[in-house]
Amino acid sequence: MARTGNKNIQAKLVLLGDMGTGKTSLVLRFVKGQFYDYQESTIGAAFFTQILSLNEATVKFDIWDTAGQERYHSLAPMYYRGAAAAVVVYDITSMDSFIRAKRWIQELQRQGDHCFLTILFIDLLGNPNLVMVLVANKTDLETKRKVETEEGERYAQENGLLFIESSAKTAQNVNELFYEIAKRLAKAC
Ligand code: GDP
Ligand code: MG
Repeated sequence: MARTGNKNIQAKLVLLGDMGTGKTSLVLRFVKGQFYDYQESTIGAAFFTQILSLNEATVKFDIWDTAGQERYHSLAPMYYRGAAAAVVVYDITSMDSFIRAKRWIQELQRQGDHCFLTILFIDLLGNPNLVMVLVANKTDLETKRKVETEEGERYAQENGLLFIESSAKTAQNVNELFYEIAKRLAKAC
């Protein structure tokens, strides 16, 4: 039976964050339900799709994972172009990765400003309704933690981002992360 008011949403989702923070692992956990301990971080397909069904909508994610370009701390604008959701990942055992995550967020916000100023003249580069999430990954490594939960939480709150602590290894909060994004997208559409 067809549900009334059910929407079909297709959404591009991009992953940002330092190399080694677990971006690819989070995607593989979500899409394949698996974790690979010795994954070669520079290798990997750059594109995945996954469908999530909510009561109010069906969301098809087109997930863009980097193929190691984040090593150079910059990503081509076409990587972000048209994204509906951005997931910025850091590793709770690395303060550097948290500092870098904040830079990725600033860069994303600059893309948004750029869009706002030039939207009449150029193609849509950014999206004012972009759903942004800050993800603190590797919570299974609690004993090696360098970034306190409150630090991540506070930064996310100040910048209007969702905040989630996850572990691609144990699967903690991984599905929740994508469900939360899907729910936000369904609400925004
Ligand atoms: P990326 O460079 O951001 O895509 O990071 P990867 O997904 O390639 O992960 C880098 C390394 O961290 C790999 O050896 C992963 O197995 C490991 N890793 C990823 N997520 C987790 C996690 O939640 N917990 C632990 N303990 N290791 C993780
Ligand atoms: Mg990767």
